[in-house]
Amino acid sequence: MSASNWEVVIGIETHAQLATCSKIFSSAATAFGAEPNVQACAVDLALPGVLPVLNRAAVECAIKLGLAVGGQVAPRSVFARKNYFYPDLPKGYQISQYELPVVSGGGITLRLGEGEQATEKVVRLTRAHLEEDAGKSIHEGFHNKTGIDLNRAGTPLLEIVSEPDMRSSAEAVAYAKALHALVTWIGICDGNMQEGSFRCDANVSVRRKGDPEFGTRREIKNLNSFRFMQQAIDYEVQWQIDTLEDGGRIQQATVLFDPSTGETRAMRTKEDAHDYRYFPDPDLLPLVIAPEWVERVKAELPELPGAKRDRFMADYGLSGYDAATLTAALDTADYFEAVVRLAGKAQAKTAANWVMGELAARLHKEDKALGQSPVSAEQLAGLVARIGDNTISNSIAKKVFEALWAGEGASADQIIEQKGLKQITDSGAIEKLVEEVLAANQKSVEEFRAGKEKAFNALVGQVMKAARGKANPQQVNELLKAKLGA
Ligand code: ADP
Ligand code: MG
Repeated sequence: MSASNWEVVIGIETHAQLATCSKIFSSAATAFGAEPNVQACAVDLALPGVLPVLNRAAVECAIKLGLAVGGQVAPRSVFARKNYFYPDLPKGYQISQYELPVVSGGGITLRLGEGEQATEKVVRLTRAHLEEDAGKSIHEGFHNKTGIDLNRAGTPLLEIVSEPDMRSSAEAVAYAKALHALVTWIGICDGNMQEGSFRCDANVSVRRKGDPEFGTRREIKNLNSFRFMQQAIDYEVQWQIDTLEDGGRIQQATVLFDPSTGETRAMRTKEDAHDYRYFPDPDLLPLVIAPEWVERVKAELPELPGAKRDRFMADYGLSGYDAATLTAALDTADYFEAVVRLAGKAQAKTAANWVMGELAARLHKEDKALGQSPVSAEQLAGLVARIGDNTISNSIAKKVFEALWAGEGASADQIIEQKGLKQITDSGAIEKLVEEVLAANQKSVEEFRAGKEKAFNALVGQVMKAARGKANPQQVNELLKAKLGA
C-alpha cells in the first residue's frame, strides 16, 4: 500500500515567549544570554514564603493575541498548578492555565501554493493560555555533573494550541510561519527561533482515507526551525505508515527529532493530564479582564495582516497574491508602503515588483533580513520614480540597484548622473542608431523580410547594444518597425 491511501492529521502546540521586560510572576529580567542564575530572584528559585504576582504586560500580550486571531478573551480565567518533578523546576510544579484559559477559539488563515493558484485555509485554534517557562539543565562543560540555570524559570509564555486541522507537513509549516508572522506583527514575541522564543510541538497521526476516527498521535517536541518541522513530520508520517502497514500499532508517545540523522525517536510514553494532578493555584486570584481593558488594547492594536492585505488591493490595485506576499511580515509591508509614499501611488505595482523581486532575491542571496538592507526605502523609491518617468529602463534600473546596494552612490539620481545611465529618449538620436544598425546588419534585415520573427529581436538587441542599453526600448521597437515597413 502506498502513502496515497493514508491521510495525515496534525495539530500544533506553540510556545511563544512573551516580549515583556520582567517575568510572569516576579520582577526578575527576562533578557537572553545573561550569566547563569543572575536573573533568578527568590520567586523564581521557589524559596519558602514567596508569593507570585502576575505581570500585567503578559496578560496584555494574551489579550492582543486573542483579538488578532478572532478568539474570545475570557472575562475570568484561572491559573493552575501542573505538578511534575524535574531538576529545572524548583517549585515542583509549573504555573499554567488548565480548565479556564485566557483565550479560546479563533483561527489562523494560511495561504497554500504559489501565485494565482494559491488557496486559503483556516486552521482553528482551540485555546491560548498563559504559563511560566522552566529553567535549563546544562550538560556541556561539566564532568559527570549537570548544571542548572534558572534564568529562564518564570519567563512568560503563551501556549497556543491548534485543532488537528492540518493535513500535510506543508500545511503545518505554513501554519507555523503564519502564526510566527502574527505574533511578531502584533509585537508580543520577538520570534527568535534560535534563542527558543518561538517553539512548536507537532502532534502527528495518520489514518486510512475515509476512516472517521483519528489515529493515535505522537508528539514531536520542541521544533525550533521551519525546516526541521518539515523534515521531522515527513519522517514521522512515513514511520507511522510503515509501522501500521507492517501490522504494528502506534503507541501515544512524545518523540524528539534528531537533525543529524533526520529521524524521530521516542523519548517517553505520553503522560495523561491526570498524571499532572492539575489544581487551581491557591496563591493566585482568578485573572479578571474587564471589557474596558480589552477595548483599550484593541484600540492600540496595529492594522492586522488581513486588513492590510485588503487595503493594499483596494488602495494600490495590487493582486491578491502581491498583497498577501507584501503583508506576510510587518517590516516588508512597512517598507513597501514607504516606497509608495515617496515614489507616488501610480508606481505601486512597480514598487511591489521591486520589493518582492530584486530586493527580496538580493536579501535572500546574502542571507540578510530586510532591516539589514543596504538599500533604504527612500533609495528604492528614488529608483522606482526614475523608472516611472522613463529616465531609465528596467534593465538599467537593475544596474542602478546594484550600485545602490554596493553603496556607490547616495541616491538613484546620483548614480544615474555619475554613470551617465540616463535613457536616450531623443527620437533623432535613436533613429540614427537604428539606421546604422540596419546598414550594418543586412543579413538580419533580409531574414526578417523572409518572415523570420527572431531576426527582429536580434536587430532590437543590436540597437540597444549600440546605445549601451540606454535607448528607450519602446521607441527602438517602434522606429525599427517603421523603418522595416512592418
Ligand atoms: P494534550 O492535553 O495531551 O496536550 P490535547 O488534546 O490538548 O492533548 O491536544 C494537543 C494537540 O494535539 C492539539 O494541537 C490537538 O489538535 C492535537 N491532536 C489531538 N489529537 C490528535 C490526533 N489524533 N492527531 C494529530 N493531532 C492531534
Ligand atoms: Mg497540551
